[in-house]
Amino acid sequence: MTIREETAWSADLGGGTRIALIQAGTFRSDAGTLFGPVPRFMWQQLVVDEIDAQGALLQALNCLLVETPAGRVLIETGIGERSDEKTRQRRVIEGPPILAALRAARFDPATVDVVALSHLHFDHAGGLLAADGSAAFPRARIAAQKLEWEFALGDNPRLQASYDQGELRLVEQAGWAGAVDGEAELLPGVTAIRTGGHSGGHQALVVRGHERTVAFFGDLFMRPWSANPRWVTAFDDFPLTSVEVKVRLFRRAVEEGWTVVLSHEARTPVGRLVAERDRYRFEPL
Ligand SMILES: [Zn+2]
Repeated sequence: MTIREETAWSADLGGGTRIALIQAGTFRSDAGTLFGPVPRFMWQQLVVDEIDAQGALLQALNCLLVETPAGRVLIETGIGERSDEKTRQRRVIEGPPILAALRAARFDPATVDVVALSHLHFDHAGGLLAADGSAAFPRARIAAQKLEWEFALGDNPRLQASYDQGELRLVEQAGWAGAVDGEAELLPGVTAIRTGGHSGGHQALVVRGHERTVAFFGDLFMRPWSANPRWVTAFDDFPLTSVEVKVRLFRRAVEEGWTVVLSHEARTPVGRLVAERDRYRFEPL
């Protein structure tokens, strides 16, 4: 069974709003980096069945297609299809990129009105461009934070390693670098909330139907164990902000009964948060 079949998920949120999980392939990340400040003895049991000989974990590229009466929003674009062979091998990139995954789910990329990105790291913004360098979603407005564009194109060497600046400059030069500033409603019922933390201008996306709300916290909530606000990755540029903002968002998710979709979980990407002592637990649907 492929990952797509196991985890295919969609939901009717009420009031004409529907949401579908689209998995745009997988890649691998170093486990120690993903667990950041957490000592190995506390996490190794959680990943015994998926850690490989190189010490890396399988990371799904989870995207969401949201249909509202006012238009279609795609949340995240994955790695895309423009990586060279060396990069594909190093990152172990596999599976269908976003355009193929959307078409397989019978969504026409040309009908997407807004592409919302939690942040601009290569594994979220890579699918903005099609293989030939043209806009993958020709009709869409891009919604990343203004601050995120500033960090993404900055000259700090650490930033240059986590963003694919050459690709982002192509998007910018095409006049396609759409931005939102702070909290903003992208379409009625779809809200971006600036969080920072994982990256300087990271944002969360919240989709509200009449009956149900789905939240996507980007890389603040990659995998089930990220439910502990103190468990942040070494990829987080501003870890203290990550911890603070996770506490705030997770409390709200519990109080308001939000469904949560994880950014890089392959097998159980959809669930809810449950408050537990001084932390939270992720409970898959
Ligand atoms: Zn990521």
